[in-house]
Amino acid sequence: MKKKLVAGNWKMHGSQLANVDLLSELVHGLASTAPACDVLVCPPAVYVAQVAALLQGSVVQLGAQDVSAQEAGAFTGEVSAAMLADLAVRYAIVGHSERRKYHGETDALVALKAQRVLACGVTPIVCVGETLEEREAGHAFEVVKRQLAAVIHHNKHCVSEVVVAYEPVWAIGTGKTATPEQAQEIHAVLRAQLQAATAHADRVRILYGGSVNAANAAALFALPDVDGALVGGASLKAAEFLSIVAAVQ
Ligand code: PEP
Repeated sequence: MKKKLVAGNWKMHGSQLANVDLLSELVHGLASTAPACDVLVCPPAVYVAQVAALLQGSVVQLGAQDVSAQEAGAFTGEVSAAMLADLAVRYAIVGHSERRKYHGETDALVALKAQRVLACGVTPIVCVGETLEEREAGHAFEVVKRQLAAVIHHNKHCVSEVVVAYEPVWAIGTGKTATPEQAQEIHAVLRAQLQAATAHADRVRILYGGSVNAANAAALFALPDVDGALVGGASLKAAEFLSIVAAVQ
């Protein structure tokens, strides 16, 4: 059975001081009992080196929130997949809905980003999810399938190496979580799509993201196709994040 993954997306939060406090609480909290899942934090790019140093020797892994679609060169402000790998970053979130919304990232660009990180030995966490309007119009399945199809088409059999995160846009940062039924239904659709694309679909972890907290985590983790969580706001509070990790059986 694959190990679940609980990943914290810090978004644009943190400071050198706050990072030390948060990570010391987190690392200390995980030191006594080995977590039943993989645990990951994704700080802003500017803090990746600091967080890498703070996580030395701990079970907590390091991820990035985004990556450039370019390999290297004159791309001011961008961070390449090779640079992330150089800092021992293990995962990179690609296609987060905030990147799609505020930076106009397309399905094709997200698929290319996934390819770039895979080429550097970093695991992409590919985010997919529908808006409220899309759900209300009955298009949720179609939207997530289209977003994942781009990644499958571009990365072919390598898609078995990605992590997928289903993050309904209407549930991100709103306090409104998908019901277990809504989450399982979409996760099953994504799993079937992966099964059609690769013989190793069962290896792919499909995370749920969208207002996950200590109170709702256990019910989500109990679902057959939910292999962990991508956690935003609650990952900035060590005690809450530790409770989510502890909810993995
Ligand atoms: C996210 O940003 O990926 C996320 C799921 O945020 P939140 O948990 O705050 O809804």
